[in-house]
Amino acid sequence: MSTEPRPSPPTPALTREPVARAVPDDWRWHHAHAATSLDDIERLFPGRFDMSALDRSGIVRAIARYGMRATPYYLDLARRAGASDPIWRLAVPDERETHVLPVEREDPIGDELPGLHPLPGVTRRYRDRALLFATPTCSVHCRHCFRKRMVGNAEYALDDAALEAALRWIAGEHDLREVILTGGDPLTLSDGRLVDVLQRLSRIEHLRSLRIHTRMPVVNPHRITPELAARLGACALPVVVVAHFNHAAELTDAASLAVQRLLTQGVATLNQSVLLAGVNDDVDSHRALLWALLDARIRPYALHHGDLVPGTSHLRTSVDTGLALMRALRGTVPGHALPRYLLDVPGGHGKVPLEPPWVTTGADGTLEIEAPDGSRQRYPPDGAPSGDRQGA
Ligand code: SF4
Repeated sequence: MSTEPRPSPPTPALTREPVARAVPDDWRWHHAHAATSLDDIERLFPGRFDMSALDRSGIVRAIARYGMRATPYYLDLARRAGASDPIWRLAVPDERETHVLPVEREDPIGDELPGLHPLPGVTRRYRDRALLFATPTCSVHCRHCFRKRMVGNAEYALDDAALEAALRWIAGEHDLREVILTGGDPLTLSDGRLVDVLQRLSRIEHLRSLRIHTRMPVVNPHRITPELAARLGACALPVVVVAHFNHAAELTDAASLAVQRLLTQGVATLNQSVLLAGVNDDVDSHRALLWALLDARIRPYALHHGDLVPGTSHLRTSVDTGLALMRALRGTVPGHALPRYLLDVPGGHGKVPLEPPWVTTGADGTLEIEAPDGSRQRYPPDGAPSGDRQGA
């Protein structure tokens, strides 16, 4: 069996700096000045984007239905207006969002099913883990978000009494080992509020790990101040940050600096992406994303198949596209850079890994293998194939 690696195709060169430089390095400024309309974008970036070809009335209808919010920092990464630009596509509504398919659901992965949702702010899908929805606020309302119903919706805010009840429930569930702060984006909370929640969780004896799911390193990276990173690193339990980069253009110097601050304080930083049509569903774009993550010392962890979110069919791919992508990536990027391709089974049943069918089993038990180099190989049922390499 050939084990010779094939050379990786060249990675497209990245421009890491935003185009405009007239925005401050202050996360609160970017959060407060987030664009909520096309007019806001024109005001923030006068003359920068040619919007003449956009379906403005369709976009206004999409905004009326789902809202819009995008930081100046993030919009600054777009090179042009329109869905052909991956950053614009991820941040600015599209008229196609008003087309909802019968298969799409407001709560596609069942966060709020009664059996999984014991009280406000908490979902438990696995025995050892629970989600704590710390806030419904985000700096950017991502167009593909599977919690669109929740994001920016004050009904989902966790007040002090609800937080207290959630922490009491977690303390009483002795099989839990990890709590995942999610939302919304937990890093839109103030340092004081966030650290208070982490400290109270850290005092619960049966917990071993705390995780923060956040897009702030991507859409508002100045949020990761040295002070915040130090406070996360000083937490009594290990804190893992799972960021959500979807495209190589998001890995700017500011984003890399944010991650370095976390890593320097011992806060492990992983990435989860969503497979998105027109953003990262082709091999070159995805390979560039994985290398950009490695450059920033972020471990690619998960690639989620697009959930059945209302109005997102133009952003979803087929599972076959995802499997073909994973097949093409294997053998052309380091194994540790390959995320697991995951499907969150609709209805709250949890995540399953999706793997290209590398192996089938013949009638005599022989494995029929499609190797990463494209060759067909066989592996006998009772041991190594002849010619197998020995030793380390
Ligand atoms: S930051 Fe996360 S929760 Fe907020 S809109 Fe984006 S994907 Fe949804």
